[in-house]
Amino acid sequence: MRYVSTRGSAPVLAFDDVLLAGLARDGGLYIPEHWPQFSPAEWRALRDRPYAEIAYAVMRPFVGGTIADADLKRLCAETYAPSVFRHAAIAPLKQLAPGLWTMELFHGPTLAFKDFALQLVGRLFDHVLTKRGTRVTVIGATSGDTGSAAIAACLGRSAVDVVMLHPHGRVSDVQRRQMTTVLAPNIHNVALDGTFDDCQDAVKAMFNDLAFRDSHNLSAVNSINWARVAAQIAYYAHAALSLGAPDRKVSFCVPTGNFGNVLAAYAAKKMGLPVDRLVVATNRNDIMARTIRSGQMALEAVAPTVSPSMDVQISSNFERMIFELAGRDGAATASMMQEFRKSGRLDFPANMQTSLAREYEGGACGEAETLAEIGDTWRATGELVDTHTAVALHVARKAHRAGEALVVASTAHPAKFPDAVEKAAGVRPALPPHLADLMTKPERVTRLPNDMAKVKEFVAAARRA
Ligand SMILES: *Cc1c(COP(=O)(O)O)cnc(C)c1O
Repeated sequence: MRYVSTRGSAPVLAFDDVLLAGLARDGGLYIPEHWPQFSPAEWRALRDRPYAEIAYAVMRPFVGGTIADADLKRLCAETYAPSVFRHAAIAPLKQLAPGLWTMELFHGPTLAFKDFALQLVGRLFDHVLTKRGTRVTVIGATSGDTGSAAIAACLGRSAVDVVMLHPHGRVSDVQRRQMTTVLAPNIHNVALDGTFDDCQDAVKAMFNDLAFRDSHNLSAVNSINWARVAAQIAYYAHAALSLGAPDRKVSFCVPTGNFGNVLAAYAAKKMGLPVDRLVVATNRNDIMARTIRSGQMALEAVAPTVSPSMDVQISSNFERMIFELAGRDGAATASMMQEFRKSGRLDFPANMQTSLAREYEGGACGEAETLAEIGDTWRATGELVDTHTAVALHVARKAHRAGEALVVASTAHPAKFPDAVEKAAGVRPALPPHLADLMTKPERVTRLPNDMAKVKEFVAAARRA
């Protein structure tokens, strides 16, 4: 299996190089040259298998021999284990109404679905780097969730040091503590005197300083990394197989921000999993829902919501979908992306509009509706759902058809957003037992001024010999 860039002019790479490269050199995103195919009999053979085995089977064709089968199998078994994802089913389904389920993706170390990809990617990184005899410093900026998932994924890995920047005083106590209470020697948290944008600018500046970047082997585990998308395919297969696939079609509704999660569902479908409908749910930052409905992608300002991980206007992973819709024409994709960057608007030609509307449906959910959904679900089922899940549940209930099996991706634990959930349902969700001491554990964090020289000095010192 080889990988091509969505903009068509970067070198074609194998999986291990794509894993370490992240973004392609031409500014595009890597995507497999073709979609691996599983026959109905191959899917059927995975039914009722443990999650780790399904993950191994799904990842194997993407890895394409760059990691030995026995190693990949072991890494999947270590990742999707009850000591990491604290539920015996790893990604349990919960029925909320006839034909309607949630797929709980929040039993990992940081209580959000990003653990599913990052826990495996952290292990893959460490494995590939150790084999090559090199090490990297992963740097990142976070306004909350991604930072803690990346830290949990790299904790204690010998080939990786992590420097994570967050804006001092501007992330919630739970979010900060999920990062700063990790005391492993390879994890370094920086509280920058500035905003999230200042943190992001500092990271970009370090990447753009090629001499600094090369001498410190800087790397990132951001959401455009193909390995993250690939690792997410397994839970769609796991859910569909649990509900009777390949002998029954299953639909999914996914709360969407950067389009990485729902893109994995699309990939599962391309691999032959009988996925019926893919419903893209957004909060009031509804660019994706609008694009699917109208065939026009038009940028608006980002509005803050109670589902902050979906407060996105430019959905970075959607570029892979544009490439698919454009018949895998890299030059055409590059010029469309350029047009969108320049004008904030892109009108898809009629044939692409038709294909997009055939693959996805879109729906948006406002703030009041999000809170109402949490309260209604609590009263009807005794289940607490987080704000992101509530957005998708609201959209799913409207889209649901009689006789259809519809699964909603439940992307975060309700205790990650306790204030909104309590306001909506009248009950405060408790942190699960393994995080019960989060608010009392010691923290380690370095506060730095918003000064590039100081930040670089810190990154240089953080790297272990
Ligand atoms: C990141 C995130 C999302 C959005 O997922 P994308 O892959 O960016 O579309 C939704 N919900 C939660 C809780 C998240 O952390």
